[in-house]
Amino acid sequence: MITVSNKKIAVLGCGRSGVAAARLALAQGAKEVCIFDAAPAATCKDETLTFVPGATEEHARAYAADLVVISPGIEADIPWTLSFGAAGAPIIGETELGYQFFKGRIIAITGTNGKTTTTALIEHILTEAGKTAKACGNFGFPLSEVCLMDEQPEFAVLEVSSFQMETIVDFKPEVGIWLNFAPDHMDRYKKVEDYYNAKRAMFRNMDGTQLAIVREGEELPGLAPRRAGFSSVVATGQLSYAGTSIMENGAELMNLAGTTMVQAHNAENVMAATLACRAVGIADETIIEAVRDFGPPHFRCEMTAEKDGILWLNDSKSTNLHSTEAAVRSQTRPIVLIAGGKDKGLDYTAISPMLAQKARCCIVFGQIADQLEATFAPVCKTVKVQTVEEAVSAAAAEAQSGDVVLFSPGTSSFDQFTGYVQRGNCFKDAVMKTLSL
Ligand code: ADP
Repeated sequence: MITVSNKKIAVLGCGRSGVAAARLALAQGAKEVCIFDAAPAATCKDETLTFVPGATEEHARAYAADLVVISPGIEADIPWTLSFGAAGAPIIGETELGYQFFKGRIIAITGTNGKTTTTALIEHILTEAGKTAKACGNFGFPLSEVCLMDEQPEFAVLEVSSFQMETIVDFKPEVGIWLNFAPDHMDRYKKVEDYYNAKRAMFRNMDGTQLAIVREGEELPGLAPRRAGFSSVVATGQLSYAGTSIMENGAELMNLAGTTMVQAHNAENVMAATLACRAVGIADETIIEAVRDFGPPHFRCEMTAEKDGILWLNDSKSTNLHSTEAAVRSQTRPIVLIAGGKDKGLDYTAISPMLAQKARCCIVFGQIADQLEATFAPVCKTVKVQTVEEAVSAAAAEAQSGDVVLFSPGTSSFDQFTGYVQRGNCFKDAVMKTLSL
């Protein structure tokens, strides 16, 4: 049990999570709270809070906090962070702080891909069922901000990243969802095991009274909570996917035809959300109705245009190989794939067999264009360009009626853009211009 009352608390990071954590700690009776940020130019939105920009290890030692709370973007094991705990103060994440003061029920969602879509879907289903629910964590509000609401919602639907799970102490959701796992963030973690262990920590405090919802085939042995499985690839779990039907015990539970969740990877998100919502008492009919009018957030295999029999999909949120693989796997038409961006140290050979089968052509761009060209050219026609605009022109020249042009970059965008949103908008504008729409 972590307490804040009468404590001197250092909050690291002055973004939305840090500000919420500082306010929550003060509201819960902390003696003193100071926000520290390493960036000299950092600013804090709440001027009533004590704030030190350009904070150094000397500042840390001089402050001598009793408790350190770190924002999600800050690494727990770097010297700067550790210096704040030098006097023996525990270091916890903002999620753990929020957990200590959240009175409602928690459904937590982790995985390499699909977290935001599944979090938004569960919030939508619970809301449609007449419950109060807030999507929070990595997506939406920090949990600490939810705790500060005049009336806390009945449910926190909490998207958790591996980073936030590195610093939990008591955190224990009622339902924990593990969507999938694949190497990512290798710019932050030294080993794949470190990334895996950070994510797996979500289940650490759970016991047989809680539920773990885990994709079939994921290597996750020895979990203490009860377990329910799902998959669009194998039929060994409680829920599986055949054609456009979610199946249970050999019978159709729900048909996703005509919904925006029909693609196989989104069907997995629906299955996980269904199992979670059932576990907290929502009826199947309500879930099925809510799924029908749900759409994934923008830039996730989103339809940009359809012209001359060619479908243009915008999957700019694909920032790792696993999401591009899922997008390729989900397509039923011949594919013109546009991929590329920043070098994150990922290896793309795993997708080659699928491209050999399904891709008419790959257009590669950005910092990793050479790497992708070398990987893809032996298995399918590959065209190298520099920019997204050039990629769209090249795709228009290659695609034939009945094809899908899939913009699923498979890495982050920071070599050319401020983020996936700017990259997605750039793709959209280029498509509109090229197709004269
Ligand atoms: P996250 O929050 O984990 O990044 P998003 O819902 O934002 O997940 O989706 C990120 C990317 O992953 C998008 O390209 C999307 O199309 C893809 N995606 C969504 N759900 C899944 C899934 N279950 N498996 C694999 N890829 C997925």
